[in-house]
Amino acid sequence: MAFDLESLVRDNIKDLVPYSSARSEYSGGAKIFLDANENAYGSASGAPYSRYPDPVQSEIKQLLARENAISPEHIFIANGSDEAIDLLIRIFCRPGIDGIITCPPTYGMYAVAAQINEVAVKRVGLIDGFQLDTRGIQAAFEPTAKMVFLCSPNNPTGNLLETDALLQVVKRFKGIVVIDEAYIHYANGMSMIGEIGNHPNLIVLQTFSKAWGLAGLRVGAAFASEPIVRLLNKIKLPYNVSSAAQLLIIEALQNSEGMRKRVARTIDERVKLAAALCRFSAVERVHPSDANFLLVQVVNSFDLYNFLLASGVVVRDRSNASMCDGCLRITVGTPKENEILIQKIEEYEASLIHRP
Ligand SMILES: *Cc1c(COP(=O)(O)O)cnc(C)c1O
Repeated sequence: MAFDLESLVRDNIKDLVPYSSARSEYSGGAKIFLDANENAYGSASGAPYSRYPDPVQSEIKQLLARENAISPEHIFIANGSDEAIDLLIRIFCRPGIDGIITCPPTYGMYAVAAQINEVAVKRVGLIDGFQLDTRGIQAAFEPTAKMVFLCSPNNPTGNLLETDALLQVVKRFKGIVVIDEAYIHYANGMSMIGEIGNHPNLIVLQTFSKAWGLAGLRVGAAFASEPIVRLLNKIKLPYNVSSAAQLLIIEALQNSEGMRKRVARTIDERVKLAAALCRFSAVERVHPSDANFLLVQVVNSFDLYNFLLASGVVVRDRSNASMCDGCLRITVGTPKENEILIQKIEEYEASLIHRP
């Protein structure tokens, strides 16, 4: 049986008559807008935000389409990729009946969004080198799995997933495969966006929160077939991305060179930081990274985490995640921040010598 989008979409979503907002019903060149009950006297803040934003974020899509060599009809703009994850689960998974597959250790939001929607989560752990267990994933397809969530480069392990394995899952699964590329700009690998034309079940997520440096604006994107983008548009909140966010995202997209420069600096620092961390006896292993963070296995993660915290440096304790025993996840900071981190770990090691 081939991939059949119609048969995967929940009936209530298929039957839905979406809310029609004022701004989606009119898009001409009128000068007087008395259609949306906005405040004609301006905003209380003084900033020019008394009008509703573009509900379909046309300008962002134009620029992002050019950036990724794909047409705007293949792009959905979300209030952070977290919104896209939630919407996708709600389009395809029937509460109490269907399920998703995740490959831990990985980003926690796939399972959380599923559980909020009463959707079961089947977990197929990563195997050697934090790569996909493609056979295990295949065994988990039937009969209720509607979606597979894959993360490449993966959070918290930091590595790219092998392209062959990703494509194998995309080709074999008759459900939806979501590949989360939140960190792709830091990796030496190709985005899977180029594969969307070949695979109607493939959805690629990206975000403005990492390489673009705009986490505070809450904007992400889903790249997919036109029918899937139409479904996302059908169920999203009418004005899901604010005018302020749209304005600033457009500015950022017009300066993608600035983004690339920051990515290059981050990668330089990642290499230096990894080398510096490897020299500590408190550090057992620095995992290779294709992202803007390092997964670092240490001798006593609880102890080091608390020491750093008391010194004003917050890292992420991932030691409870599967395959991540004793691991801290450390975001690559500025040269100065990384220097302080290294200095604090030196102090930590010195303190160990003096402990009873
Ligand atoms: C940070 C991150 C995101 C970004 O989510 P936003 O809602 O766009 O900020 C998505 N996926 C992964 C794996 C991440 O680590």
